[in-house]
Amino acid sequence: MSWQTVIGLEIHVQLSTKSKLFSGGSTGFGAEPNTHVDLIDMGLPGVLPVANKEAFLKAIRFGLATNAVINQTSTFDRKNYFYPDLPKGYQITQMALPIVGEGSIKIEVDGVEKIINITRAHLEEDAGKSIHDLFEGETGVDLNRAGTPLLEIVSEPEISNAKEAVAYFKAIRQLVTFLDICDGNMAQGSMRCDVNVSIKKRDDEKLGTRAEIKNINSFKFIERAINHEVERQTRIIESGGSVVQETRLYDSVKNETRSMRSKEEANDYRYFPCPDLLPVVITDEELSLVKDNLPELPDQKEKRYIADNSLDAAEAKIIASSKTMASMFEEACLKTDDSKLVANWLVGDVSALLNKDGIDIDESRLTPSNFAKMVERISDNTISGKIAKSVLEDIWDSGSDVDEIIQDKGLVQIQDESLLEEIGQKIIDTNPNQVEAFKNGKDKLFGFFVGQVMKETQGKANPKSVNEILRKLLS
Ligand code: ADP
Ligand code: MG
Repeated sequence: MSWQTVIGLEIHVQLSTKSKLFSGGSTGFGAEPNTHVDLIDMGLPGVLPVANKEAFLKAIRFGLATNAVINQTSTFDRKNYFYPDLPKGYQITQMALPIVGEGSIKIEVDGVEKIINITRAHLEEDAGKSIHDLFEGETGVDLNRAGTPLLEIVSEPEISNAKEAVAYFKAIRQLVTFLDICDGNMAQGSMRCDVNVSIKKRDDEKLGTRAEIKNINSFKFIERAINHEVERQTRIIESGGSVVQETRLYDSVKNETRSMRSKEEANDYRYFPCPDLLPVVITDEELSLVKDNLPELPDQKEKRYIADNSLDAAEAKIIASSKTMASMFEEACLKTDDSKLVANWLVGDVSALLNKDGIDIDESRLTPSNFAKMVERISDNTISGKIAKSVLEDIWDSGSDVDEIIQDKGLVQIQDESLLEEIGQKIIDTNPNQVEAFKNGKDKLFGFFVGQVMKETQGKANPKSVNEILRKLLS
């Protein structure tokens, strides 16, 4: 029997607003526990939430970029449940009327494109964090994250396998980072997803019963959790059992999913309209303002790089595919007229280092400003292209500033013509046989002399000057 896999993703995207969804508390990551907490985030009685307009404008950007319906009037509801990291006893979310309605996004797997429909994208507040490993036998609660704005993006159950799910997650990540509405930092939990998986017989109209795997925050784990879950459900059904609808947890250490709780029914949450918040109305003017100021997206960048920077299609695609890579390219192009050279560094050396380490550009220590500075030091002749390769490797390992590396390692290019002439003469004097052979027509030996000067100067001589000087000395 061949089974068909059906997957729907709920992705939580942390919006990069300065303050929280309903309070003035800071959203900054990594602060001391419970220092970014406002009275509203603590859920004290008698305080009233005030909706953060910026979160709406960011959500609308996402809606416009996915050709979605924008609900210019949207409302908030309470989702009631008890958990220590949720002091109010309810989460404020958008159930009945979300800010973003139906839309879609294009994904690509092995060169094949597919459209995944998006059911909705709604705003909601994040909960705090329970900390189990700080106090022996006790659990701590950190409310810094409580009230942080999330955009929950819900897909239709149209994803057919683990690879497509990863491609979809990547497409959403690419989009939200280009839109500048989320930093895309998965290690810090800025993007997490719940994966809904079911299987069914190929010709069955009706979908199978799903399991929901909660809170996955890496591409690798999405893929593994789905593959594991499909195997588990197949085993159950083929041995005559039936899958129960439940929430499961993916254990990355054991590579298995485990049951957390059987699925709550919506009415267990007792959703009802939040009486503390009025409907939020977005005016036509506000909507057009967002529309007119949408940032440039990957497809547009790709076209511009080909038309204005003379990149070829493959280079443009690689560079425009990530926000960070595109920033590197654009910042570096401000430092040199040679955009082709910048592209070569990114598609060549930088991509090779990424492949070697098996990481994403955002996980590397290379930043757009440091990369741009490296390109600037090549174009102002402080370092040669050859030395730049070792500087790049150094940044890769240490993250140090380009100028510091050049200073500390004494890598400044030797421009001093008389010094280079002196070294060139010394090489000629100590290699009389090669000089004679060269003069008798063995032209290829010229490279030998260049190589010797480079060796003598530890690669720091300006190659162009060395060529000119040796031509003169050997003529
Ligand atoms: P809930 O909010 O209770 O998790 P929803 O109906 O909003 O439930 O669905 C959540 C996600 O589950 C959506 O992404 C949807 O596409 C997906 N989904 C729904 N039914 C199935 C199914 N039978 N198999 C796989 N995914 C499903
Ligand atoms: Mg869900």
